[in-house]
Amino acid sequence: MTTSIVDSALVNVQSVSKSFGEGETRVDALNDVSLQVHAGDVVALLGPSGSGKTTLLNVIGCIVEPSCGQVSLDGEKVFDGRWLRSNLRQLRLEKVGFIFQFHNLIPFLNSTDNVAVVLNLAGYSSTESKKRAVELLDYLEVGHRKDAMPANLSGGEAQRVAIARALANRPRIILADEPTAALDSDRAGIVMDLLRKVATEQDAAVLAVTHDEKIFDRFDRIFHLRDGRLEPENTVYPPPTFPASFPREPIGLPMLSVSNL
Ligand code: ADP
Ligand code: MG
Repeated sequence: MTTSIVDSALVNVQSVSKSFGEGETRVDALNDVSLQVHAGDVVALLGPSGSGKTTLLNVIGCIVEPSCGQVSLDGEKVFDGRWLRSNLRQLRLEKVGFIFQFHNLIPFLNSTDNVAVVLNLAGYSSTESKKRAVELLDYLEVGHRKDAMPANLSGGEAQRVAIARALANRPRIILADEPTAALDSDRAGIVMDLLRKVATEQDAAVLAVTHDEKIFDRFDRIFHLRDGRLEPENTVYPPPTFPASFPREPIGLPMLSVSNL
C-alpha cells in the first residue's frame, strides 16, 4: 500500500497491540494489528468469540487504550504510545459514531430526544438539536416514529433511531458492533442499505463487527481476526487444496472466497 493511500485513510491502525491484566491472567486481546479503512468503505470485522473484535472497535473508538502502536482517525494522529488528546470524550464526539447490537436507546426519551441529547452534549441549543434530530430521523426513514418511545419501536425502527443518534455529530467514522444481530433478514438488509447510504453520501467509513452470514455480501472488504491477529486480507476459506487432476469446473458447492462469503 502506498503512503498516500494510508494517509488518506479515515481509520489508520498501525501495529496496535492490547493486553488486559498482568502475569498469569494476562490476555493478549490484540496482537500487532494494522488496518486502514477509507471514506466510502463498508467493511466487516469477523472472527470467533474472544478474537478481539470488540477490543479493536473500542480502540478505534478511543474507548480502550492500546498497549502500543499508533491510531489515526480522519487524518489526525490520536494515539502514538499514548493518547495525544486529553479530552477523549470530545475526540469521540467529533470523530466517531457508535452503533451497538442492542440499540441502547434511553428508555424514557422519545426517538427525537434520543438523538437530540447527543447534539445538546455537542453544544447545540435545544431547538437546533431537535430540528436536526428530526431531519436525521427522516433521512433514516424513521421520521414517522419521531415521537415514539423506545419500548414501542420495532427492532428495525429502534436500530434506525440508534443509527441516527450515531450520525448526530456528523462523524465520518461509524463503528458498529453486531448491528443486525437482533434483526430478521429483511430488517438487517434495510440497516445495511442505510449504512451504505451513509458511507456514500456522508463520505464516511463504516466498520462493523458481525457474525451475520445473511449480510456478508453487503461488505466491500472483510477483515478476519483470530486470537487477536488479523489474517492477511483475501485469505481464502477453506484453502483450495485440490490435486492437479481435480476437475476445473466446481461440482456441487462453489469454492468460498472472501469476495463471495
Ligand atoms: P470478541 O469481541 O471478538 O468476542 P473481545 O475483544 O471482547 O473479543 O475480547 C478479546 C479478549 O480480550 C477475550 O479473551 C476477552 O476475554 C479479553 N477482554 C476483553 N475486554 C477485557 C477487559 N476489559 N478485561 C479483561 N479482559 C478483556
Ligand atoms: Mg465482541
